[in-house]
Amino acid sequence: MDAKHIRNFSIIAHIDHGKSTIADRLIELTGTLSEREMESQILDSMDLERERGITIKAQTVRLNYRGKDGEIYELNLIDTPGHVDFNYEVSRSLAACEGALLIVDAAQGVEAQTLANVYLALEHDLEIIPVINKIDLPSADPDRVKQEIEDVIGLDASDAVLCSAKTGIGIENILDQIVAKIPAPADKNDKPLKAIIFDSYFDAYKGAIAHIRIFEGCIKPGMKLKMMSTGKTFDVTDIGCFVPTPYAVDSLESGQVGFIAGSLKNVRDVRVGDTVTAAANPTDKPLSGYRGVTPMVYCGLYTVDSADYNNLKDALEKLQLNDAALVFEPETSIALGFGFRCGFLGLLHMDVIQERLEREYNLKLITTAPSVIYHIYKTNGEMITVSNPTDLPETTEIEHMEEPFVKATIIVPNDYVGAVMEISQDKRGKFISMDYIDSRVMLTYHIPLNEIIYDYFDKLKSMTRGYASLDYELAGYQQSKLVKLDILLNGEMVDALSTIVHIDRAQIRGRQLAEKLKEIIPRQMFEIPVQAAIGNKIIARETVRAMRKDVLSKCYGGDISRKRKLLEKQKEGKKRMKSVGSVEVPQEAFMAILKVD
Ligand code: GDP
Ligand code: MG
Repeated sequence: MDAKHIRNFSIIAHIDHGKSTIADRLIELTGTLSEREMESQILDSMDLERERGITIKAQTVRLNYRGKDGEIYELNLIDTPGHVDFNYEVSRSLAACEGALLIVDAAQGVEAQTLANVYLALEHDLEIIPVINKIDLPSADPDRVKQEIEDVIGLDASDAVLCSAKTGIGIENILDQIVAKIPAPADKNDKPLKAIIFDSYFDAYKGAIAHIRIFEGCIKPGMKLKMMSTGKTFDVTDIGCFVPTPYAVDSLESGQVGFIAGSLKNVRDVRVGDTVTAAANPTDKPLSGYRGVTPMVYCGLYTVDSADYNNLKDALEKLQLNDAALVFEPETSIALGFGFRCGFLGLLHMDVIQERLEREYNLKLITTAPSVIYHIYKTNGEMITVSNPTDLPETTEIEHMEEPFVKATIIVPNDYVGAVMEISQDKRGKFISMDYIDSRVMLTYHIPLNEIIYDYFDKLKSMTRGYASLDYELAGYQQSKLVKLDILLNGEMVDALSTIVHIDRAQIRGRQLAEKLKEIIPRQMFEIPVQAAIGNKIIARETVRAMRKDVLSKCYGGDISRKRKLLEKQKEGKKRMKSVGSVEVPQEAFMAILKVD
């Protein structure tokens, strides 16, 4: 295909504004699939994604479209994940494009992630085509939304496509604007190979598969290629594109998008953002902007049944094959035994991995409260990073500590500005700015990431009746006065319940946590003191009173099925229990810190 007839684009949008539905419509209209083969939300292939309605892994589809001029165009739609956890992958996908469709919901207007995505697209110099979707809704107000796009984003919206992915109206117009407005890629076929990897996944038969965009040169099967970040070389066996099922091609040329597979076993060898070149005739410089992904949130993962330890290890290794951002290492807890410390891009990533471990690998897990990475400056001049509260050095060895902050952008209707300020201040946020968008307000705050992972977003949503939208990006480390809050059950410290909290909140958090644990820990045959402590100082105490009678004594002589039911209920409740010393502790206890307010 002649480069002049290629268009590479992404779709960017705030969550739920219709990105996946529009992608489906584009595929349908270009006849890439027959209607029978169309399943709803084709781009979201994992079950979990379909259920949650989120897009985790970027995917790519080649569409053939006959433009108004009668010529056939090759349109490569590069799907991007729509969640802040996966921002780096969004950025790599955008780097593979010349343009982007910006989808905005005609009823909701510009939201926090709309803006964040536009900024990313502008950083990559993309041609942005505004598309106002859901114009079929009775509450749609396309004129207001056009105005918002102009005022808030600064894009000319006079030609914005008005469409409804539900009824199909306006979809053809999107395709025509892609052809007319998005620049064709430059034709640099005769140069040495230079391609960016914007996604990768593991295939049981073919090994690691890389999704690539070629900027210069071309790839044919049999070539020896080289990864520029590691110098690793490999032989290409398969090349192709997705329509959206994999489809083999003879060559991939400058400007094109497709996949390559070869003698690569591990997705770790296929790093998103890396540049691929020809081993025999390498390009001089890699494409800019490559960086490794670093986990932001850590937690401990343990199996309820310690006999499952090896199964958990196997499962994590398998998931890692497909997820270069997942990291884990063995960890031991006095309370929970042998497990793993796992690192994730963010809370959503953590949830998704946990759910997959339980669902696909049938594991029953105990997870400890998520933690960020702290920088600990020691009195001996050393700096160490700590993600497990248990690893914190003695207070006397600590000179000072730093924690990660994020810049959070929140968009809400005017009426809720007070509520947002209250929650943000309560979460130790520092006010940065406030701007008006019509009848809404955009606020920015610096907030500790730690507070964001607790319950900031849930609070924000509930206090604004779901109207607030949030986006955040890492804004570096800042010094904070932090302490380790310990919990003692029956006089013994339970390491897996320790957390790092701000000193000003320590007292109250300790009291709340003790109260919460009293509620959560079921009564046992003996009395259990629950204490919260900072260092040697006990700051709160509650008591789980002893059980008075055996549950079964109530129905002595009674009917047997009732007894069985009671026993089953008890067993059910025990499933997620872990014996910690002499105390049976349920799973919720380890997450209780997230639930206090
Ligand atoms: P994404 O999160 O941006 O991928 O959004 P989805 O494509 O999953 O759409 C979110 C919701 O909006 C789904 O329930 C869709 O059925 C619905 N939706 C998408 N486009 C339209 C539209 O044009 N009109 C209406 N009424 N609903 C739509
Ligand atoms: Mg989607």
